[in-house]
Amino acid sequence: MNKIYNFSAGPSMLPKEVMIEAQNNFLNWNNYSYSMMEISHRSQNFLNMVEQTEENLRILLNVPKNYKILFSQGGARGQFSVIPMNLLNKNDIADYICSGYWSSSASKEAEKYCIVNKINVVKKIDNKKIVIPMKEWKTNPNSNYIHYCQNETISGIFIPEEPKFINKHIICDLSSCILSQSIKIENYSLIYASAQKNIGPSGITLIIIKEDLIKQSKQNTPSILDYKILLTHDSMFNTPPTFSWYLCGLVFKWLKKNGGIKEIEKINKKKAYLLYSLIDNSDFYINDIHCDNRSIMNIVFRLIDPSLELLFLTESTNFGLLFLKNHKILGGIRASIYNSMPIDGIYALIKFMIYFEKRYG
Ligand SMILES: *Cc1c(COP(=O)(O)O)cnc(C)c1O
Repeated sequence: MNKIYNFSAGPSMLPKEVMIEAQNNFLNWNNYSYSMMEISHRSQNFLNMVEQTEENLRILLNVPKNYKILFSQGGARGQFSVIPMNLLNKNDIADYICSGYWSSSASKEAEKYCIVNKINVVKKIDNKKIVIPMKEWKTNPNSNYIHYCQNETISGIFIPEEPKFINKHIICDLSSCILSQSIKIENYSLIYASAQKNIGPSGITLIIIKEDLIKQSKQNTPSILDYKILLTHDSMFNTPPTFSWYLCGLVFKWLKKNGGIKEIEKINKKKAYLLYSLIDNSDFYINDIHCDNRSIMNIVFRLIDPSLELLFLTESTNFGLLFLKNHKILGGIRASIYNSMPIDGIYALIKFMIYFEKRYG
């Protein structure tokens, strides 16, 4: 039996050390004689954990003082509605950049709450998908913000350019790339991410928001989703998902211990490079994204002969490489290689891909 590697896009694998620490503390957290799942979110031990978690996240992402960190529920999809609800009136305009499924979904949801200026930014040059440069994005001069998704989890399209727009709020869905490489928080007014890709288990959503954006919310926003209420209640207006929060805290601690974003970025780039090199050097596997816009988290590819894909998936599963099937809206293969995926998982996948090509190529 080969070692098992989990390439699921989300919920996805968590660092082994984190899982072991959670397991060791499951019944008797820090020797307090209870599980952290069984206590009030108002108790001092829980609050200390929350404080430490925020502190570590601030260090990891270098979050400036004038930015607030909020934890909420409803996932990134929840934020697709929560953002315009909090920030806009019905007649306000917002720019929605579309580079794939998730950014398009955000744009569609926003149409319920505001006037959406939808901008497609992906085009094909020499049969390769490429994102047009930000300066060519046809934003509306009267828009209240620009929304985009830095890493399209399903199509594997990444936007590396740091946003530089004058007098515009930038809002970014970082669900599948947060903490994978360095970003400058100052360039954004609000970033958000569901946890289950690169932060922790599902059930909790991270929002980092510039303080001056938190005003009285618009459009009768439900209190549990109102940024101002979340802030004044330290993200505990209603009972938060305590266990998910705790696990996110363990992941932040693990990242920090292992050298922070700088170190993980190096490893992530190497992991992605190894896979893309194999794909590019073969006449058997293809990736049709321009190298500037390739995700380092979700490596998407196809087989030249699509009739072999099912066999590829069956055999890879038997080989111990799990969940390589891409989302049904796109099909093909996707290796999600978030921070927790060790480089040995990449070597195992490469070994399998070479072996498969040898037999069927
Ligand atoms: C997974 C994902 C979402 C949806 O997250 P939910 O937690 O299911 O709401 C949104 N955006 C991106 C980029 C994602 O990867």
